[in-house]
Amino acid sequence: MSTYTAKRLPRQTAAAGWNAILPPQDPLPVLEQDLTADVTIIGGGFAGLSAARRLHQLDPSLKVAVLEAGKFAEGSAGRNSGFMIDLPHDLASDNYAGDALDADRAAIAMNRQAIRFAKGIAEDCALPQELFDPAGKINAAATRAGDRHNRDFAAHLKRLDEPHTLYSQAEMQALTGSPHYTSGLYAPGTVMIQPAGYIRALSAHLAGQIRVFENTPATGFEKQGNGWVVATPKGRISTGRIILANNGHLESFGFYQRRLMHICLYASMTERLTPEQIKRLGGEARWSVTPSDPVGTSVRRISGSYGDRILIRTCASFHPTIETSRMRLRNAGWVHDRKFRERFPHLEDVRMEHRWAGMLCLSRNGSAAFGELDHGVYSACCQNGLGIARGTLQGMGAAELLLQGGSDIASHFLAQPEPPKLPPEPFASLGANTYLMWKEWRSGKE
Ligand SMILES: Cc1cc2nc3c(=O)[nH]c(=O)nc-3n(C[C@H](O)[C@H](O)[C@H](O)COP(=O)(O)OP(=O)(O)OC[C@H]3O[C@@H](n4cnc5c(N)ncnc54)[C@H](O)[C@@H]3O)c2cc1C
Repeated sequence: MSTYTAKRLPRQTAAAGWNAILPPQDPLPVLEQDLTADVTIIGGGFAGLSAARRLHQLDPSLKVAVLEAGKFAEGSAGRNSGFMIDLPHDLASDNYAGDALDADRAAIAMNRQAIRFAKGIAEDCALPQELFDPAGKINAAATRAGDRHNRDFAAHLKRLDEPHTLYSQAEMQALTGSPHYTSGLYAPGTVMIQPAGYIRALSAHLAGQIRVFENTPATGFEKQGNGWVVATPKGRISTGRIILANNGHLESFGFYQRRLMHICLYASMTERLTPEQIKRLGGEARWSVTPSDPVGTSVRRISGSYGDRILIRTCASFHPTIETSRMRLRNAGWVHDRKFRERFPHLEDVRMEHRWAGMLCLSRNGSAAFGELDHGVYSACCQNGLGIARGTLQGMGAAELLLQGGSDIASHFLAQPEPPKLPPEPFASLGANTYLMWKEWRSGKE
């Protein structure tokens, strides 16, 4: 008899700023009795909630239950920087042959499918523009190497026939109010979400269609007859099938052991800027920049009902235990303050109000952990950094695989080679953390 027990459950380090700035939320139910379902989804982030929506779209009569270990929007799905990106990460690779162009076109088409799906969610949930903004994003450079990278990136976008605009230093300053950036590359396809607002709205919307539970961790599941029984602290679900949408915690149930890299990212968000600080800052009210060096600093300015604020996201660390520490968050906070002062020397009186950490999951070869892992148990995990678009896509794909036996999205992920094994501990942690520190140091002003 197959039995899987969760060795670890998610533990978050500090409250997610995006959630903290929203008004208090009506809680969703905790599972407190036994239940039956056709499909049980474990994990309520982008993958889990998208899988639930796609299942409901394909068969509204299906009994679906979603279990989220914590509160919706307190997991990584509510802790990220909100870039729902259509372009693959590393478009400026050196080896840019015809095959790579085709692979990038396919990846872009997939990501845009996820974005269209998310737009449908935004419409159904009547999300205002400040929560779901198809504004595009800028790849910002602060060094000569970064400028070069932007020019290469622009050349690749041209070959792909993708629209883009190069910004000069003066244009970057006019946009951001910061004298820091030496060039920018704007591409219009990214949607900027307020991640906690999006996840809250989607989970509440789904609660009107299917069973949605928060503060309800799945502690294990075992085969019973033709189906499975999922255990939680206060109730069990007898279910036909399961979708594991718990990203790195897939490994906590014993799958993909030592094949998933658990990376922590750190973010800080300022207090509300005063009208006088806004004037001093200059620039436009909303903009979003990713660094031209992927290990550099993402910065986002938001405005609207939840205040004019600036988000700084940088620093990364590797944790096989899938959680970081308060000490690491404090150290990252010092770096965030330094990066903020470098970019906004004229906002020396602005303080950070929220600081938080969040886990993401990568594989060494960039493959997902996707497919049927046991009879009737599916996985939609390991989003490799671009989890807003890729998690949405994997959730859609898992639902389609489960109900239809396959789809273009499912085939895309099923065709990927298996994530390779990591070196044994402590070598993996030592190697990964040294590499990340070196990359951060090398990214310099980026
Ligand atoms: C600071 C930061 C910035 C980021 N910025 C971006 C960005 O701008 N763009 C982007 O695309 N990505 C970004 N990411 C990555 C992105 O957040 C993740 O890739 C994405 O959240 C993955 O989605 P998911 O649904 O697969 O997993 P998650 O969002 O992690 O959702 C999985 C859920 O499963 C739950 N869970 C785990 N175990 C159990 C269990 N046993 N029972 C029940 N529930 C369980 C967890 O609580 C969690 O809520 C960022 C991440 C961080 C931390």
